[in-house]
Amino acid sequence: MYATSLDHYIDGKWMQPTSGKSQDVMNPSTNAKLGKLGHASKADLDHALASAAKGFAVWRKVSAFERGKILKKVAELMRARVNEIATVLTLEQGKVLAEAKVEVLGSADIIEWFAEEGRRAYGRIIPARADGVRNMVLMEPVGPVAGFSPWNFPVSQAARKIGGALAAGCSIIVKCPEETPASPIAFVKCFHDAGVPPGVVNLVYGVPAEISEYLIPSPIIRKISFTGSVPVGKHLNALAAMHMKRATMELGGHAPVLVFDDVETDSVATLLSGMKFRNAGQVCVSPTRFFVHEKVYDKFVGKFTDLAKGLKVGDGMDASSNMGPLANPRRIAAMESIIQDAQEKGAKAQTGGKRIGNQGNFFEPTVLTDVPANARIMTEEPFGPVAVMMRFKDTDKMLAEANSLPFGLASYAFTKDGKMAAKVADALDSGMVSINHFGIALPETPFGGVKDSGFGHEGGVEGLNAYLSAKFVSYMG
Ligand code: NAD
Repeated sequence: MYATSLDHYIDGKWMQPTSGKSQDVMNPSTNAKLGKLGHASKADLDHALASAAKGFAVWRKVSAFERGKILKKVAELMRARVNEIATVLTLEQGKVLAEAKVEVLGSADIIEWFAEEGRRAYGRIIPARADGVRNMVLMEPVGPVAGFSPWNFPVSQAARKIGGALAAGCSIIVKCPEETPASPIAFVKCFHDAGVPPGVVNLVYGVPAEISEYLIPSPIIRKISFTGSVPVGKHLNALAAMHMKRATMELGGHAPVLVFDDVETDSVATLLSGMKFRNAGQVCVSPTRFFVHEKVYDKFVGKFTDLAKGLKVGDGMDASSNMGPLANPRRIAAMESIIQDAQEKGAKAQTGGKRIGNQGNFFEPTVLTDVPANARIMTEEPFGPVAVMMRFKDTDKMLAEANSLPFGLASYAFTKDGKMAAKVADALDSGMVSINHFGIALPETPFGGVKDSGFGHEGGVEGLNAYLSAKFVSYMG
């Protein structure tokens, strides 16, 4: 069981919601109950909306310099509490403790970066047509934000939204994931303890559709930020458009990885195996479609498969585990169905393909070859520990195939040929391209997709601009 109760946070106070409805929160490694999470009622959401309006009025008047100081204190508290926050994260989400610590420390870096960058929300002066006129562009906070963050990175996905909003001078109501509520609570406690004024950050839980359908139309909310699946993103974006709200949509991906014939296959396979099976593959930028040059295909796939076979899958709290369980039973059903479909159509599992045991949501690291084009996994995001291996010979044909899906989030390429690196960087139709290393998702670099993977960014100066609105002031003195 959790050590503390699962409270919502509204107007600077920790409280139990009033709907009378709740859900159990389970440990995905043991199936043991960790706690009970109450759901917000409409009255609680009205309270959160009034609180966010009040918080915005206060916070926008705090100078960017002072806001930065308070946010740096949040980052310090997170670093001091890394073990405590990471432990509840692993208990409720499943990822191995070392990864949970990286997530918490990385989130502290996100908050610290936004603390600095908020001080650089520069506007500009435009040359005037008449003497004595000053044409100024002032960057203002967009207003109270409604943020919806998912369960695969319960702390860092919330950090990107809260960090960007607060650095810009906005308040936020964030609905964090119901299946992993305690780590966002421990994270939001850092804002409370660092002295963020009441109403600036509000944290609620409940039935996701009920909350989004109530908050998005509210005239108090001026901006929506959602991270999650493509179908839900399309629905929320339509709702945002209907109410003329700005939106950032960080949706799913189906990342292609191009492995050319001039690389050291063993070291590339080792790096990619780490990337693939991190967080049991439940990562929107997880490499999934491996296009491997025919000259190195057998060697690469052999090494990658050996690495997958060697992973110890187990409870994330056990220091010897390399990969934890899937976060919830829905993912087991989804993996079984998508892999079975591929196998029925002719795919071969070089390793894995099955659930492990019947307690906890453990699934084997899986490598599929000979997957036909009509298998669902070729077009649907698997969001789990499965890699699809394909041979290629002709680069242009392969690039056309890599770009053929409606997704466009992350892409990866491995080659020693500089011309080829430049060619694929230009050709890959995705919001992020990383060549010869895993170089995406840093606080200071833009993170976001194109096509069905969404629009807008959550990192870099773009991630701050997402919460700013340009106001033009023309002044004649
Ligand atoms: P889902 O589509 O039901 O939910 C995805 C996320 O959206 C969850 O966090 C959920 O709480 C939230 N959500 C669902 N309906 C909502 C609504 N009407 N309003 C507001 N929020 C809503 O699927 P799931 O089973 O939770 O997750 C599986 C799929 O979600 C995966 O296949 C993956 O594509 C996607 N996903 C993506 C990310 C990401 O980082 N982009 C994270 C988690 C899940």
